[in-house]
Amino acid sequence: MQKRFIIFLIFSFSLFSCALAQDDYLRQNEIDILHYSFKITLEDSQDLILGETTLKIKFKDKVKAFYLDLVKKNNTGKGMAVQSVMYDNQNLAFQHHQDRLFIPIPFEKEIDTSKTYSFTVRYVGIPTDGLVISKNKFGERTFFGDNWPNRAHCWLPVIDHPYEKATCEFIVNAPDHYRIIGNGALQKQEDLSGNRRLTHWSCAEVLPTKVMVIGAARFSVEVVDSLRNIPIESWVYPQNEKAAFYDFALAPKILRFFEEKIAPYPYEKLANVQSTTRYGGMENASNIFYDENALNGKRTCEDLIAHEIVHQWFGNSASEADWHHLWLSEGFATYLTHVYFEETYGRESMQKRMEEDLSRVSYFAKTNKDARIINPTIKDLNNLLNALNYQKGSWLLHMLRFQLGDDLFWKGIKAYYQKYQFSNALSEDFQKVMEETSGQKLDWFFKQWLYESALPSLKITWKYLPEKKKTQIECSQTQAGDFIFQYPLEIEIQTPNAKAPKIEKIQITQKTEVFEINSSTPPFAIKADSNHWLLLEVEVKKGN
Ligand SMILES: [Zn+2]
Repeated sequence: MQKRFIIFLIFSFSLFSCALAQDDYLRQNEIDILHYSFKITLEDSQDLILGETTLKIKFKDKVKAFYLDLVKKNNTGKGMAVQSVMYDNQNLAFQHHQDRLFIPIPFEKEIDTSKTYSFTVRYVGIPTDGLVISKNKFGERTFFGDNWPNRAHCWLPVIDHPYEKATCEFIVNAPDHYRIIGNGALQKQEDLSGNRRLTHWSCAEVLPTKVMVIGAARFSVEVVDSLRNIPIESWVYPQNEKAAFYDFALAPKILRFFEEKIAPYPYEKLANVQSTTRYGGMENASNIFYDENALNGKRTCEDLIAHEIVHQWFGNSASEADWHHLWLSEGFATYLTHVYFEETYGRESMQKRMEEDLSRVSYFAKTNKDARIINPTIKDLNNLLNALNYQKGSWLLHMLRFQLGDDLFWKGIKAYYQKYQFSNALSEDFQKVMEETSGQKLDWFFKQWLYESALPSLKITWKYLPEKKKTQIECSQTQAGDFIFQYPLEIEIQTPNAKAPKIEKIQITQKTEVFEINSSTPPFAIKADSNHWLLLEVEVKKGN
């Protein structure tokens, strides 16, 4: 996901740090939802929706009841009123309490853990959020699912947390002047009486609820290209179709780039959709929604498109198991977008982007006491959309690439995706894969970049030692606090007659340490990290 605006947030300071940070969501480990079938009826004359959700579920243990998240109708008149919950033609005595729908299991004692059970929930109401019913910038009525982080349950009865992934289908009954987009492959479009149409989309891969959506609007649709028979489509408002089609036509080259870099694209189609969303872009699985104003016919949204396309692998297919590990989505999408720019427009283009990110992380660290990526004290999930999960997470990957080298890094990224595709992971799962792939212990690396609040800064003082024909480099870690960082650092020694500057790699491990580097002639300058591999503020001075 990409925000429209950068918001700097203030967090409270805490010394608490925990490798197995878990968010507050009360998980139901006894059940596994396999599939949601969402039937939704949309109207022109009112914002009321009719919903019928059939879920396929397996029980891992004997339980008396389970619950789904669903926002209950409140005193503003919005929210969902549940009409019935059925199992096997039997009406169940459900309870809808504090936005949770508790469903009793009438066959508790006979639960068969190998069997799949099916329940159907019928409900009606005006969504409080999650399905945004509004007018687009051309004044036309539109419906767009906008679920991040946990707003799916404003309009769908679901377990609204990324740990519980399921396949889904949407069967939408709407006035026939809307075109409906949904996850996965189009199964059916059928005209009904009364100028209405039924549209059925189905996704065969498990998804987190944050990316299960539909969109309904008057769209112009273009099939731009295809990749291994997977259609790449653009869905845009007819009024600006020329500009929007032109911008979205970037998608095939971006998609091919990431398919090469990571793995085969995981879904049945890729539709880039102009929409009315609160975010700049939202990576909904196989139908990405973009802010309607992001498309201007000048292709200024190339990085946005790249970011959302990366999420199809990282975030949608390999999803974080816990909200505090969101960097596994956002850090990956941010970094791989930079890599796309590196390989498409050159290393300098990437470095510029990485430097901007460094400033953002540095500003965040200066204005917030807590700059750990994994920070379980954050309770409001919207506060996770910060420079740590995006830019610091991206920098972590860049530094890991420097630590391991390109070959091992990309081998590891592919192996991590291979292992966790259509599944969930925590940071420690990623660490384990990178350790196995590289044969290196990386505990120190992940600990300092995920769980330490400080950011490293370094003061370097150098002088030439003519009697030894060496350059002496004194390095002092100057960041606030007691933590000592470890990192490899490239030192570039610039001498008058050399064809190219000499680059030596040193390993920083102490608060203060001195290195001596062979140099037959006195250098006129020393540069540190000239290839921009480190999230580091560095000052270099010539000593006496
Ligand atoms: Zn994102």
